[in-house]
Amino acid sequence: RSWSESAIPGQILDCIERIGYKEPSPIQRQAIPIGLMNRDIIGIAETGSGKTAAFVIPMLAFISTLPPFTDENRHLGPYALILAPTRELAQQIESETRKFASPLDYRCVSIVGGRAVEEQQFNLREGAEIIIATPGRLKDVIERHVLVLGQCRYVVMDEADRMVHLGFETDLTYILDALPEGAMDGEVDKMEIDDEGSVVRIGRTRVTTLFSATMPPAVERLARKYLKRAAVITI
Ligand code: AMP
Repeated sequence: RSWSESAIPGQILDCIERIGYKEPSPIQRQAIPIGLMNRDIIGIAETGSGKTAAFVIPMLAFISTLPPFTDENRHLGPYALILAPTRELAQQIESETRKFASPLDYRCVSIVGGRAVEEQQFNLREGAEIIIATPGRLKDVIERHVLVLGQCRYVVMDEADRMVHLGFETDLTYILDALPEGAMDGEVDKMEIDDEGSVVRIGRTRVTTLFSATMPPAVERLARKYLKRAAVITI
């Protein structure tokens, strides 16, 4: 099965071809078509399975339906947020995400511990459609009003079991409670065609996905509280 069989937007297919990924990995084959329907997803998968691209491709397809960043909204926070347990993983995710996001002109900024908040604040001055963060530092920059999340519509929790194992459950709850609501049961994403004929999303809806190698009770709790009618994918 090839990439072109799923409904990936053409500009993202071009990125995939340029990056040189010949065919989707098993998790990509399963998660991307469901992700492109903007369903919440629980993915049970290990690192090395290609899960980063599995969540980044639908995330970018989603962002491409939102109005482009302008001077009016670039300071209102990111459209998408990826949460990861460690600085190392966040940096790995950032470099994989950039491969797809940079050709599409979307900016990625990482907010992780061990680096000066001032530096991250500087990186945020132009705004960024995508933030990749560790929970502790992200909570810190939200509390300091360095970052707001008022227009964040897409959240990925990667390696959720490692995040709760490192004691981040409370920080995750704080962050997810700071976000606009997810789509309510029975509510569908509202779409509109703008003046230029592109599809834009309206209404305060959110897609939330969670990836984890295991499902301990704390991860179950997060999934139950913040995901809605999630599709479960096991590799
Ligand atoms: P991940 O599990 O997301 O950390 O990805 C593991 C590695 O596989 C990364 O170095 C990716 O660049 C690479 N990768 C992801 N998807 C594909 C693919 N479809 N074809 C070839 N390499 C891939």
